[in-house]
Amino acid sequence: PATVAVVGRPNVGKSALFNRLLGQRLAIVEDTPGVTRDRLYALAEWRNRTFTLVDTGGIDTDVDPNDPIASGTRAQAESAARDADVVVFVVDAIDGLLPIDREVADILRRTRRPVILVANKVESPKALASVHAEFSGLGFGEPFAVSAMHGEGTGDLLDAIVEKLPPDDPTRLEQAELAIALIGQPNVGKSSLLNALLQEERAIVSDVPGTTRDAIDTLFTWKQRTFRLIDTAGVRKKAGQHGSIEYYSSLRSLKAIARCDIAVLLIDALKGPTNQDRRLAGIALEERKALVIVGNKYDLVRELGEYSQPELAKEIHAQLPFASFAPVTFLSALTKRRLQSLMPLVERVAENLDRRIPTAKLNTVVRNAVLAHPPPIHSGKPLKVFYVSQPQTHPPLFVFHVNDPEIVPAAYRRFIENTLRAEFDFEGVPLTFDFRERS
Ligand code: GDP
Repeated sequence: PATVAVVGRPNVGKSALFNRLLGQRLAIVEDTPGVTRDRLYALAEWRNRTFTLVDTGGIDTDVDPNDPIASGTRAQAESAARDADVVVFVVDAIDGLLPIDREVADILRRTRRPVILVANKVESPKALASVHAEFSGLGFGEPFAVSAMHGEGTGDLLDAIVEKLPPDDPTRLEQAELAIALIGQPNVGKSSLLNALLQEERAIVSDVPGTTRDAIDTLFTWKQRTFRLIDTAGVRKKAGQHGSIEYYSSLRSLKAIARCDIAVLLIDALKGPTNQDRRLAGIALEERKALVIVGNKYDLVRELGEYSQPELAKEIHAQLPFASFAPVTFLSALTKRRLQSLMPLVERVAENLDRRIPTAKLNTVVRNAVLAHPPPIHSGKPLKVFYVSQPQTHPPLFVFHVNDPEIVPAAYRRFIENTLRAEFDFEGVPLTFDFRERS
């Protein structure tokens, strides 16, 4: 869903407004320490529109020690606005307009996002007139006057937010471009697979510049969906150059992984995964990318004729246990045997990447799992799971509101992950879990 960011300098009441907009049930008070994710966000609903609300007060940014508040505020505003569909810019009616408010306004104006100006702490009708005079000069029209503390004006504000949200587009899935990185060791068959894919009858192909000077991506349309094959120049680059080809190609792989939605890891079906393959798979998953495994050179395996595909896939998963949710397909880029198995698999993983589980369903599944397998009691304190939400897809993020995030053992996290995977199709997609203390 669309993202709405609440932006403004410290102490204007961003978190209070954030909580007020969400209502008490979804309010997230504290981020768990040690979690690198640095925003407070939650799914909000108003007039049947769902959006992700972000409280930038929680964003930790590098700050200038000489002017920590100003530099932190600027960085937060910049980064939040960049990702947001709508920005709620909060100023303080009691303090009035400060120079830092003007700076934030300039930053927001440059991002060209729709901005809703909100004057908080308006708790008397007398304040209202002066608020309009004071803040209208910022260039975002007359501010919405609200009191986050008492709730006045927040309904009108929600109406205004929802009005500015981009339309929900049910065909978005077809239109979104999916970036695919073909990764794997030299000579595993990446360029052969690339050429085979691009020769497919129904593929419409065009080369476009990638983000770095020497990278070339290929746009490729398959069944009405556009895929971006990342750095096909790197994939095509052949042996024969001097220098460390291994090093060069793995560096390119890393860059390609960083830019992709789905990493397609080629391994030699005959030899099975190598250490380098394990490393590449690990990096892709650490970067929260979806992963599909291709056992290439399947023609050679078939000559041997000994192993069935499920047996081979099981063997590969045994050697890449941390990637056991990644689907495996076998094909031959050379003979094109089973070549058609790849794109449907990629498409399915793409769907899983965008899968959102309705909150009610999610909570039912988790509640039942927790009832069937109660969490272990940690020094006399039982773990309680109050509420689960999935504020993000692509990749999916699940937030668990619990009594104490410190007492969730790794084994219990795995149990919860297995439960969700058994219930919902997240094949090929890494799942992220945040355990947070409930307010
Ligand atoms: P890259 O370095 O990963 O791009 O690998 P290439 O696509 O250049 O392939 C390396 C070698 O493996 C070439 O000689 C290919 O013809 C061969 N090759 C690629 N795919 C297959 C396959 O599916 N079966 C067999 N038998 N050979 C393959």
